[in-house]
Amino acid sequence: MTPDSKLGWQEDEPARSKDKYWNEICRVGRWMYERGLAVAGEGNLSVRLGADRILITPAGACKGMLAPEDLLVIDPEGEVVSGKGQPSSETPMHLLFYRMRPDAHAVCHAHPPTATGFAAAGRALEEAVLPEVIVNLGKIPLAPYGTPGTWEVCAALERLVERHDAILLENHGVVTCGPDLRTAYFRMETVEQFARVMFAAEALGGPHLLPRSEVQKLIEARTRYGVTCPRGNSAELPRTAEAMEDRITFRRQELESFLEEAIRKDRARR
Ligand SMILES: [Zn+2]
Repeated sequence: MTPDSKLGWQEDEPARSKDKYWNEICRVGRWMYERGLAVAGEGNLSVRLGADRILITPAGACKGMLAPEDLLVIDPEGEVVSGKGQPSSETPMHLLFYRMRPDAHAVCHAHPPTATGFAAAGRALEEAVLPEVIVNLGKIPLAPYGTPGTWEVCAALERLVERHDAILLENHGVVTCGPDLRTAYFRMETVEQFARVMFAAEALGGPHLLPRSEVQKLIEARTRYGVTCPRGNSAELPRTAEAMEDRITFRRQELESFLEEAIRKDRARR
């Protein structure tokens, strides 16, 4: 397929690169579908082609079966510039990232089952547990629920988009961004893998959190690990072991005996 030359990519790009974004969205859509991160018509993908053009998946299409001609080009207001049918219902969410994050050139949205399970339980993925996740994403916050496909989702996301490359959407799914589509997609895989590990660790008695000093070392070594972090080292740190030290856990029996003791003392005083 040869895209229309009036669209918004850099005119000095080699001709063959003009097709690459169309093909890349179809390829990443297949990965997303085959790995079960989005089933049926779920999820959506987009790429920034230039200052005022965005390539996005159509509404309701299965991401595992996309063809380049299914994709639509829209402008920053969401108006269709070329392509047939409707753009993704989550277009406002994609546009929010492009407006607030000049460094983001791709957005990936999916419903990966374990990470979405955390989002459905009202749980963020903010603990300092896995070095890979700390280096690549810092912490993964939870945006409060908003009706999918509306500006409510954007309102809930707005305060988080500037500081995070991966965000859980309450009772909904996950959204990630990146300097290119593969990076945005790999961030989605990382979120789901982390959620699976956390689920297993919690079933086995709870994860051990890393201390702040170790988290700091990982953040400072980002460049050495080959991670370009546009958020810089100022990205919010995940919850470390120190934050957990103030928490005390009682067994039911211990708690009941404390209560009985307190009631007994209170009665004795009267
Ligand atoms: Zn969704």
